[in-house]
Amino acid sequence: PFEKSKGQHILRNPALVDSIIAKAGLKPTDTVLEIGPGTGNLTKRLLESGVKAVVAVELDPRMVLELSRRFQGHPLSSRLKVIQGDVLKCDLPYFDICVANIPYQISSPLTFKLLSHRPIFRCAVIMFQREFAMRLVAQPGDTLYCRLSVNVQLLSRVSHLLKVGRNNFRPPPKVDSSVVRIEPRKPLPPVSFKEWDGLVRICFNRKNKTLGSLFKQKRVLELLEKNYKTMQSLQLAQESEMGEEKMSPDDVAVLANMVEDLSVETNDEKEDDDMEMDDADAADGRASFKEKIMGILQQGDFAEKRSSKLSQVDFLYLLSLFNKAGIHFS
Ligand code: SAM
Repeated sequence: PFEKSKGQHILRNPALVDSIIAKAGLKPTDTVLEIGPGTGNLTKRLLESGVKAVVAVELDPRMVLELSRRFQGHPLSSRLKVIQGDVLKCDLPYFDICVANIPYQISSPLTFKLLSHRPIFRCAVIMFQREFAMRLVAQPGDTLYCRLSVNVQLLSRVSHLLKVGRNNFRPPPKVDSSVVRIEPRKPLPPVSFKEWDGLVRICFNRKNKTLGSLFKQKRVLELLEKNYKTMQSLQLAQESEMGEEKMSPDDVAVLANMVEDLSVETNDEKEDDDMEMDDADAADGRASFKEKIMGILQQGDFAEKRSSKLSQVDFLYLLSLFNKAGIHFS
Protein backbone atom coordinates (compact mmCIF):
# COMPACT_ATOMS: atom_id res chain seq x y z
CA PRO A 1 0.00 0.00 0.00
CA PHE A 2 1.61 3.23 -1.16
CA GLU A 3 0.89 6.47 0.62
CA LYS A 4 -0.23 9.33 -1.58
CA SER A 5 0.48 11.86 1.14
CA LYS A 6 4.15 10.85 0.99
CA GLY A 7 4.21 11.07 -2.81
CA GLN A 8 4.94 7.36 -3.11
CA HIS A 9 5.03 6.64 -6.82
CA ILE A 10 7.48 3.86 -7.61
CA LEU A 11 9.46 3.85 -10.84
CA ARG A 12 8.58 0.62 -12.57
CA ASN A 13 10.28 1.05 -15.95
CA PRO A 14 13.83 -0.36 -15.71
CA ALA A 15 14.85 1.26 -19.01
CA LEU A 16 13.91 4.65 -17.60
CA VAL A 17 15.91 4.00 -14.42
CA ASP A 18 18.87 3.11 -16.64
CA SER A 19 18.62 6.30 -18.67
CA ILE A 20 18.46 8.40 -15.50
CA ILE A 21 21.64 6.67 -14.30
CA ALA A 22 23.29 7.18 -17.71
CA LYS A 23 22.46 10.90 -17.70
CA ALA A 24 23.89 11.38 -14.22
CA GLY A 25 27.53 10.97 -15.30
CA LEU A 26 28.52 9.05 -12.19
CA LYS A 27 32.18 8.54 -11.23
CA PRO A 28 33.66 5.73 -9.12
CA THR A 29 34.69 8.31 -6.51
CA ASP A 30 31.17 9.69 -6.10
CA THR A 31 29.07 9.70 -2.99
CA VAL A 32 25.49 9.84 -4.21
CA LEU A 33 22.62 11.32 -2.26
CA GLU A 34 19.30 9.70 -3.03
CA ILE A 35 16.14 11.26 -1.65
CA GLY A 36 13.10 9.05 -1.15
CA PRO A 37 14.53 5.69 -2.25
CA GLY A 38 11.17 3.99 -1.69
CA THR A 39 11.47 0.31 -2.54
CA GLY A 40 14.95 0.84 -3.96
CA ASN A 41 14.67 0.48 -7.75
CA LEU A 42 16.89 3.48 -8.37
CA THR A 43 19.06 2.69 -5.35
CA LYS A 44 19.90 -0.75 -6.73
CA ARG A 45 21.08 0.66 -10.05
CA LEU A 46 23.05 3.40 -8.31
CA LEU A 47 24.91 0.79 -6.28
CA GLU A 48 25.52 -1.36 -9.35
CA SER A 49 26.91 1.60 -11.27
CA GLY A 50 30.05 1.30 -9.14
CA VAL A 51 29.93 4.53 -7.15
CA LYS A 52 31.79 4.80 -3.88
CA ALA A 53 28.71 5.21 -1.71
CA VAL A 54 24.98 5.84 -1.76
CA VAL A 55 23.32 7.71 1.08
CA ALA A 56 19.55 7.46 0.88
CA VAL A 57 17.18 9.54 2.99
CA GLU A 58 13.71 8.03 3.37
CA LEU A 59 10.85 9.30 5.51
CA ASP A 60 8.70 6.17 5.68
CA PRO A 61 9.98 3.55 8.19
CA ARG A 62 8.20 0.80 6.25
CA MET A 63 10.20 1.68 3.17
CA VAL A 64 13.41 1.78 5.20
CA LEU A 65 12.63 -1.74 6.40
CA GLU A 66 11.90 -2.90 2.89
CA LEU A 67 15.19 -1.43 1.67
CA SER A 68 17.23 -3.15 4.35
CA ARG A 69 15.54 -6.45 3.48
CA ARG A 70 16.16 -5.95 -0.20
CA PHE A 71 19.84 -5.19 0.16
CA GLN A 72 20.61 -7.56 3.03
CA GLY A 73 23.47 -9.80 1.91
CA HIS A 74 23.78 -7.90 -1.34
CA PRO A 75 27.48 -7.71 -2.31
CA LEU A 76 27.29 -3.92 -2.49
CA SER A 77 25.25 -3.36 0.66
CA SER A 78 28.27 -2.02 2.56
CA ARG A 79 28.22 0.98 0.21
CA LEU A 80 24.63 1.86 1.12
CA LYS A 81 23.64 3.97 4.07
CA VAL A 82 19.97 4.59 4.70
CA ILE A 83 18.93 7.51 6.88
CA GLN A 84 15.38 7.46 8.14
CA GLY A 85 13.92 10.94 8.34
CA ASP A 86 12.47 13.95 6.61
CA VAL A 87 15.03 15.24 4.12
CA LEU A 88 13.85 18.80 4.73
CA LYS A 89 14.55 18.52 8.46
CA CYS A 90 17.74 16.48 8.61
CA ASP A 91 21.33 17.61 8.14
CA LEU A 92 22.42 16.46 4.74
CA PRO A 93 25.58 14.38 4.58
CA TYR A 94 28.44 15.14 2.19
CA PHE A 95 27.57 14.20 -1.41
CA ASP A 96 29.03 14.77 -4.87
CA ILE A 97 25.88 14.18 -6.79
CA CYS A 98 22.18 13.82 -6.05
CA VAL A 99 20.03 11.42 -8.04
CA ALA A 100 16.42 11.16 -6.99
CA ASN A 101 12.82 10.53 -7.82
CA ILE A 102 11.40 12.82 -5.17
CA PRO A 103 7.96 13.33 -3.64
CA TYR A 104 6.71 16.34 -5.63
CA GLN A 105 5.25 18.21 -2.69
CA ILE A 106 8.74 19.08 -1.43
CA SER A 107 10.18 20.17 -4.82
CA SER A 108 10.77 23.82 -4.08
CA PRO A 109 12.16 23.70 -0.52
CA LEU A 110 14.28 20.69 -1.44
CA THR A 111 15.81 22.41 -4.46
CA PHE A 112 16.88 25.39 -2.36
CA LYS A 113 18.04 23.17 0.49
CA LEU A 114 20.33 21.35 -1.94
CA LEU A 115 21.59 24.59 -3.48
CA SER A 116 22.46 26.06 -0.10
CA HIS A 117 24.24 22.91 1.13
CA ARG A 118 28.02 23.21 1.54
CA PRO A 119 30.38 21.99 0.27
CA ILE A 120 28.42 22.44 -2.91
CA PHE A 121 27.70 19.31 -4.97
CA ARG A 122 28.68 18.77 -8.61
CA CYS A 123 25.30 18.06 -10.07
CA ALA A 124 21.78 16.88 -9.28
CA VAL A 125 19.60 14.78 -11.58
CA ILE A 126 16.08 14.93 -10.22
CA MET A 127 12.61 13.84 -11.31
CA PHE A 128 10.10 16.65 -10.87
CA GLN A 129 6.50 17.22 -11.82
CA ARG A 130 6.56 18.40 -15.46
CA GLU A 131 5.25 21.88 -14.77
CA PHE A 132 7.73 22.48 -11.95
CA ALA A 133 10.53 21.28 -14.24
CA MET A 134 9.40 23.68 -16.97
CA ARG A 135 9.38 26.54 -14.46
CA LEU A 136 12.93 25.68 -13.42
CA VAL A 137 14.25 25.89 -16.97
CA ALA A 138 11.99 28.71 -18.26
CA GLN A 139 13.68 31.62 -20.01
CA PRO A 140 12.56 35.28 -20.20
CA GLY A 141 9.48 35.47 -22.41
CA ASP A 142 8.35 31.89 -21.69
CA THR A 143 4.89 31.60 -20.17
CA LEU A 144 6.19 29.74 -17.11
CA TYR A 145 9.07 32.16 -16.43
CA CYS A 146 8.77 33.16 -12.78
CA ARG A 147 10.57 33.93 -9.54
CA LEU A 148 11.51 30.25 -9.17
CA SER A 149 13.19 30.35 -12.60
CA VAL A 150 15.35 33.39 -11.85
CA ASN A 151 16.26 32.29 -8.36
CA VAL A 152 17.29 28.77 -9.34
CA GLN A 153 19.10 30.04 -12.43
CA LEU A 154 20.98 32.59 -10.35
CA LEU A 155 22.46 29.74 -8.34
CA SER A 156 22.72 27.02 -10.98
CA ARG A 157 22.52 26.00 -14.61
CA VAL A 158 19.44 23.93 -15.23
CA SER A 159 18.61 21.75 -18.18
CA HIS A 160 15.72 19.52 -19.11
CA LEU A 161 16.87 15.92 -19.65
CA LEU A 162 13.89 13.61 -20.10
CA LYS A 163 10.13 13.73 -20.40
CA VAL A 164 8.54 10.99 -18.34
CA GLY A 165 4.92 9.94 -18.77
CA ARG A 166 2.82 9.10 -15.71
CA ASN A 167 2.55 5.42 -16.69
CA ASN A 168 6.18 4.84 -15.78
CA PHE A 169 5.12 4.89 -12.12
CA ARG A 170 3.06 2.70 -9.87
CA PRO A 171 0.58 3.95 -8.90
CA PRO A 172 0.61 6.51 -11.73
CA PRO A 173 0.54 10.09 -10.44
CA LYS A 174 -2.00 12.58 -11.82
CA VAL A 175 0.69 14.57 -13.60
CA ASP A 176 3.50 13.93 -16.05
CA SER A 177 7.10 14.30 -14.98
CA SER A 178 10.47 15.43 -16.23
CA VAL A 179 14.06 14.74 -15.23
CA VAL A 180 16.14 17.89 -14.81
CA ARG A 181 19.86 18.44 -14.32
CA ILE A 182 20.90 21.14 -11.85
CA GLU A 183 24.56 22.20 -11.85
CA PRO A 184 25.45 24.75 -9.18
CA ARG A 185 27.33 27.78 -10.50
CA LYS A 186 30.93 27.98 -9.37
CA PRO A 187 31.59 30.64 -8.35
CA LEU A 188 28.22 32.05 -7.45
CA PRO A 189 27.39 35.52 -8.79
CA PRO A 190 28.77 38.10 -6.34
CA VAL A 191 25.49 39.32 -4.96
CA SER A 192 23.77 39.51 -1.62
CA PHE A 193 21.03 36.92 -1.94
CA LYS A 194 18.81 38.70 0.54
CA GLU A 195 18.98 41.82 -1.57
CA TRP A 196 18.39 39.81 -4.72
CA ASP A 197 15.42 38.09 -3.20
CA GLY A 198 13.91 41.36 -1.99
CA LEU A 199 14.18 42.89 -5.45
CA VAL A 200 12.91 39.84 -7.30
CA ARG A 201 9.89 39.50 -5.01
CA ILE A 202 8.81 43.03 -5.87
CA CYS A 203 9.47 42.56 -9.59
CA PHE A 204 7.59 39.27 -9.85
CA ASN A 205 4.68 40.36 -7.69
CA ARG A 206 3.06 40.97 -11.08
CA LYS A 207 5.41 39.81 -13.78
CA ASN A 208 3.46 41.47 -16.59
CA LYS A 209 3.29 44.92 -15.01
CA THR A 210 5.93 47.46 -15.86
CA LEU A 211 8.61 47.95 -13.22
CA GLY A 212 7.71 51.64 -13.29
CA SER A 213 4.24 50.86 -12.06
CA LEU A 214 5.34 48.21 -9.55
CA PHE A 215 7.79 50.59 -7.91
CA LYS A 216 5.16 53.33 -7.67
CA GLN A 217 3.15 51.20 -5.25
CA LYS A 218 2.86 52.81 -1.86
CA ARG A 219 3.74 49.59 -0.07
CA VAL A 220 6.96 49.23 -2.06
CA LEU A 221 8.03 52.86 -1.71
CA GLU A 222 7.37 52.78 2.04
CA LEU A 223 9.47 49.65 2.45
CA LEU A 224 12.37 50.99 0.42
CA GLU A 225 12.28 54.34 2.13
CA LYS A 226 12.26 52.68 5.53
CA ASN A 227 15.33 50.61 4.56
CA TYR A 228 16.97 53.71 3.15
CA LYS A 229 16.45 55.71 6.32
CA THR A 230 17.54 52.88 8.57
CA MET A 231 20.74 52.55 6.60
CA GLN A 232 21.40 56.25 6.82
CA SER A 233 20.56 56.71 10.48
CA LEU A 234 22.65 53.74 11.51
CA GLN A 235 25.42 55.17 9.38
CA LEU A 236 25.67 51.90 7.62
CA ALA A 237 26.59 53.69 4.46
CA GLN A 238 30.03 52.17 4.75
CA GLU A 239 28.71 48.72 5.13
CA SER A 240 26.56 49.14 2.08
CA GLU A 241 29.67 50.20 0.20
CA MET A 242 31.15 46.90 1.29
CA GLY A 243 28.15 45.20 -0.22
CA GLU A 244 29.01 46.82 -3.48
CA GLU A 245 32.55 45.60 -3.26
CA LYS A 246 31.20 42.14 -3.87
CA MET A 247 30.28 43.39 -7.29
CA SER A 248 33.08 45.59 -8.59
CA PRO A 249 32.42 48.45 -11.01
CA ASP A 250 34.00 46.30 -13.69
CA ASP A 251 31.56 43.51 -13.02
CA VAL A 252 28.73 45.96 -13.28
CA ALA A 253 30.06 47.21 -16.60
CA VAL A 254 30.25 43.67 -17.90
CA LEU A 255 26.72 43.03 -16.76
CA ALA A 256 25.53 46.26 -18.27
CA ASN A 257 27.03 45.29 -21.59
CA MET A 258 25.31 41.98 -21.42
CA VAL A 259 21.88 43.49 -20.91
CA GLU A 260 19.97 42.45 -23.96
CA ASP A 261 18.19 44.96 -26.08
CA LEU A 262 14.73 43.96 -25.07
CA SER A 263 11.91 45.20 -27.15
CA VAL A 264 9.23 46.58 -24.89
CA GLU A 265 5.66 45.59 -25.46
CA THR A 266 3.45 48.61 -25.91
CA ASN A 267 0.69 46.81 -24.19
CA ASP A 268 -1.67 49.27 -22.55
CA GLU A 269 -2.19 47.39 -19.33
CA LYS A 270 -4.55 49.06 -16.90
CA GLU A 271 -2.52 50.16 -13.90
CA ASP A 272 -3.92 49.98 -10.39
CA ASP A 273 -3.76 53.68 -9.74
CA ASP A 274 -5.28 53.34 -6.30
CA MET A 275 -2.27 51.39 -5.09
CA GLU A 276 0.18 53.95 -6.34
CA MET A 277 1.25 57.01 -4.40
CA ASP A 278 -1.25 59.81 -4.50
CA ASP A 279 -0.73 63.56 -4.27
CA ALA A 280 -1.39 63.65 -0.57
CA ASP A 281 1.81 61.70 -0.02
CA ALA A 282 3.78 64.37 -1.80
CA ALA A 283 3.22 66.60 1.19
CA ASP A 284 5.19 64.39 3.57
CA GLY A 285 8.21 64.31 1.36
CA ARG A 286 7.77 60.89 -0.14
CA ALA A 287 7.43 62.39 -3.58
CA SER A 288 11.12 63.08 -3.80
CA PHE A 289 11.93 59.54 -2.74
CA LYS A 290 9.59 58.30 -5.44
CA GLU A 291 11.42 60.49 -7.95
CA LYS A 292 14.68 58.97 -6.80
CA ILE A 293 13.39 55.45 -7.42
CA MET A 294 11.91 56.40 -10.81
CA GLY A 295 15.20 58.03 -11.72
CA ILE A 296 17.08 54.80 -11.03
CA LEU A 297 14.64 52.78 -13.12
CA GLN A 298 14.99 55.25 -15.98
CA GLN A 299 18.75 55.27 -15.70
CA GLY A 300 18.83 51.58 -16.60
CA ASP A 301 15.92 51.94 -19.02
CA PHE A 302 13.82 49.66 -16.80
CA ALA A 303 10.71 51.77 -16.13
CA GLU A 304 8.72 50.39 -19.07
CA LYS A 305 10.02 46.84 -18.83
CA ARG A 306 8.27 43.81 -17.36
CA SER A 307 9.83 41.01 -15.32
CA SER A 308 8.38 38.40 -17.65
CA LYS A 309 10.96 39.53 -20.22
CA LEU A 310 13.96 40.34 -18.00
CA SER A 311 16.95 38.05 -17.70
CA GLN A 312 18.98 37.23 -14.62
CA VAL A 313 21.67 39.63 -15.87
CA ASP A 314 19.07 42.41 -16.13
CA PHE A 315 18.02 41.85 -12.52
CA LEU A 316 21.63 41.84 -11.33
CA TYR A 317 22.23 45.10 -13.15
CA LEU A 318 19.07 46.68 -11.76
CA LEU A 319 20.07 45.61 -8.25
CA SER A 320 23.50 47.16 -8.68
CA LEU A 321 21.93 50.45 -9.80
CA PHE A 322 19.68 50.52 -6.73
CA ASN A 323 22.49 49.60 -4.35
CA LYS A 324 24.78 52.24 -5.81
CA ALA A 325 22.11 54.81 -5.02
CA GLY A 326 21.87 53.53 -1.44
CA ILE A 327 18.57 51.69 -2.00
CA HIS A 328 18.40 48.30 -0.33
CA PHE A 329 15.94 45.43 -0.36
CA SER A 330 16.76 43.73 2.91
N1 SAM B 1 12.76 6.42 -5.49
C1 SAM B 1 11.64 5.51 -5.53
C2 SAM B 1 11.35 5.11 -6.95
O1 SAM B 1 11.77 5.88 -7.84
O2 SAM B 1 10.74 4.09 -7.18
C3 SAM B 1 10.41 6.09 -4.84
C4 SAM B 1 10.08 7.51 -5.19
S1 SAM B 1 8.60 8.14 -4.50
C5 SAM B 1 8.15 9.30 -5.75
C6 SAM B 1 9.08 9.24 -3.20
C7 SAM B 1 9.65 8.61 -1.93
O3 SAM B 1 10.02 9.66 -1.03
C8 SAM B 1 8.70 7.73 -1.16
O4 SAM B 1 9.35 6.54 -0.83
C9 SAM B 1 8.37 8.54 0.11
O5 SAM B 1 8.11 7.73 1.25
C10 SAM B 1 9.61 9.35 0.30
N2 SAM B 1 9.41 10.64 1.00
C11 SAM B 1 8.29 11.41 1.04
N3 SAM B 1 8.52 12.54 1.73
C12 SAM B 1 9.81 12.51 2.13
C13 SAM B 1 10.64 13.38 2.89
N4 SAM B 1 10.17 14.54 3.37
N5 SAM B 1 11.93 13.02 3.14
C14 SAM B 1 12.41 11.85 2.66
N6 SAM B 1 11.67 10.98 1.92
C15 SAM B 1 10.40 11.29 1.67
